[in-house]
Amino acid sequence: MEFLKLLSETPGVPGREELVREVIKQEIHGLFDEVRVDKLGSLICLKKASKTSGSHAPQKVMIAAHMDQIGFYVRFVDDKGFIRVHNAGGFDTRNLSANRVLVQGRKNLPGVMNPAGKPIHIASEEDRKKQFLVSDFMVDVGLPGKKVKELVQVGDPVTLVRDFAQIGDFVCGQAMDNRAAVWTAVRAIQRVKKTSYDIYVVFTVQEEVGLRGAGPATFGLEPDIAIALDTTLACDTPGIPDDQTVTHAGKGVGIKIMDGASISDRSLVDSFVQTAKKEKIAYQLELLPLGGTDAGAMQRSRTGYRTITLSIPTRYIHTVTEMVHRDDLHGARDLLAAWLGA
Ligand SMILES: [Zn+2]
Repeated sequence: MEFLKLLSETPGVPGREELVREVIKQEIHGLFDEVRVDKLGSLICLKKASKTSGSHAPQKVMIAAHMDQIGFYVRFVDDKGFIRVHNAGGFDTRNLSANRVLVQGRKNLPGVMNPAGKPIHIASEEDRKKQFLVSDFMVDVGLPGKKVKELVQVGDPVTLVRDFAQIGDFVCGQAMDNRAAVWTAVRAIQRVKKTSYDIYVVFTVQEEVGLRGAGPATFGLEPDIAIALDTTLACDTPGIPDDQTVTHAGKGVGIKIMDGASISDRSLVDSFVQTAKKEKIAYQLELLPLGGTDAGAMQRSRTGYRTITLSIPTRYIHTVTEMVHRDDLHGARDLLAAWLGA
């Protein structure tokens, strides 16, 4: 799990995915026939078909796994050196207090994030009820204002910091959405020995701010089949009614029926279910009422594409304690590899 740990702990806010891209490049050395970076920053990797399908050109399969994570950009530094941020991606502000952060300034600066305002000891009844917006939070890097202004400027990325950990049967850390899927894509391709497809694995940018990288990549590649790899909600924890579980952690890779951004191509759903059954890989059909994946952008590129999403069930999504069951991670890898090699 060293690769996943490194992926999880490497910062990559939307638009600044370059460090994550480098980690992936190192890991995939020699795995693909062609590797290039498109103008938006997505990493496009081609593994050519090894089996021929008669006189036809091989079908093109595109697999998208986004590299970015929800994060922030510096929007203001005050005279005392306290930093204000703007979010890139959706945060639940209830989870933002008392966090360690990393500011990627002229050099990397560790910091803490807390809401501006009084600690509980001196807070009024009114203060305690306050619901915070991202704009209420500040970052303290523990340096004098002058020094901070030298090192940090508007537009520097800020990410939450949390060590990767193995907890019971799970792996846990920040940015499992979507580094768990990046891990899955690389490990799946490593298992594909022979394939009749030209496989394009695209590590996309800017998914968390509206699926911005996947659409142009799809436009350029014109795939016959487009697959998004992403995390999804596993609401199998207390306080959530059974009918809103979406997926159960540990019960298998999710084969998505629909979410807020796409409806999976029915024949692809059937095809993945068939492969899962044949290979005895646990799976669950997934329907997510809100939210979306790169499939939403891929489906609507050019004149439309057949798309599907394979999902990795994830507890506490969009927090720094995202938890993924090891069996689901391996199941997602095995299903994708089996389907591509079939
Ligand atoms: Zn995601």
